[in-house]
Amino acid sequence: MSAKIIDGKAFAADVRARVAAHVARLKEENGITPGLAVVLVGEDPASEVYVRSKGKQTVEVGMNSYEHKLDADTSEADLLALIDTLNNDPAVHGILVQLPLPGHLDSDLVINSINPAKDVDGFHISNVGLLGTGQKSMVPCTPLGCLMMLRDHHGSLSGMNAVVIGRSNIVGKPMAQLLLGDSCTVTIAHSRTKDIADVVRGADIVVAAVGRPEMVPGDWIKPGATVIDVGINRLPPAAEGGKARLVGDCHYDSCAEVAGAITPVPGGVGPMTIACLLANTLTACCRAHGLAEPEGLTA
Ligand code: NDP
Repeated sequence: MSAKIIDGKAFAADVRARVAAHVARLKEENGITPGLAVVLVGEDPASEVYVRSKGKQTVEVGMNSYEHKLDADTSEADLLALIDTLNNDPAVHGILVQLPLPGHLDSDLVINSINPAKDVDGFHISNVGLLGTGQKSMVPCTPLGCLMMLRDHHGSLSGMNAVVIGRSNIVGKPMAQLLLGDSCTVTIAHSRTKDIADVVRGADIVVAAVGRPEMVPGDWIKPGATVIDVGINRLPPAAEGGKARLVGDCHYDSCAEVAGAITPVPGGVGPMTIACLLANTLTACCRAHGLAEPEGLTA
């Protein structure tokens, strides 16, 4: 195995420490405590785990955490009324509505009812537009985490060929915009891409965000390329009585033989997502109060 392992767990711990230090200064010098409100509708077990983890980490960095758990049959009007209250609450600097929402709720309508300045997920149509036009915005957490790790590893990304596999609104598209913003030559591959292996072989940077276990083999990777594996796929236990395995969208062992650097799954991109949510909440708080933003924690 030749690739350097990009340790997302350690990187995320460092981001949280930087956020915590900035939060402590905000409290001491300005008497301000950033606050993050997380709204969960229904009882999806995976969402409950995420929300608990977000709340715990929010408190650990010194911010206020406000959790709003609503019944699965909550009406759209009631959910919009809660968001309106949070939009107008000066103690709340960030609002996150945990997705997916139950089927009777219109996710786009709900997300677009969040004040864009408090939209710490970066999914509001205004933030999407601002990012797309290279203006200051709230940046989606997972692609932001990937960008931070890439900048840390490479310094400048200017002129590099980047291939993003996947074109979702939450990962693939914003990732491509961020790489373009850092002057990469960007290709977005997706399910209709012809000869995807050949497309990926031209990349200095590969970001895989597909949701297909181990889809990218090592022989698609250009020697020395950097591989960022966003995928989280749960495989059944290899043997009876064994544990389920988490794998990424890249075949780790064969990619690591060829790549210059690679993020593992688990322990790569995953931990960075919540760390970036905390960073975004801090950024939103600083902007709301007209204070200097933390350095190195935004795009
Ligand atoms: P989506 O299902 O929304 O998007 C998947 C994308 O992959 C689509 O654009 C799709 O193309 C493309 N795709 C599907 N099959 C192929 C194929 N055979 N070849 C090329 N492209 C293909 O997924 P998300 O973007 O939400 O998530 C992607 C992965 O990242 C998942 O494993 C998810 O769990 C993980 N994830 C991890 C996060 C983290 O914190 N680490 C956060 C968010 C997601 P098309 O548009 O043509 O259908």
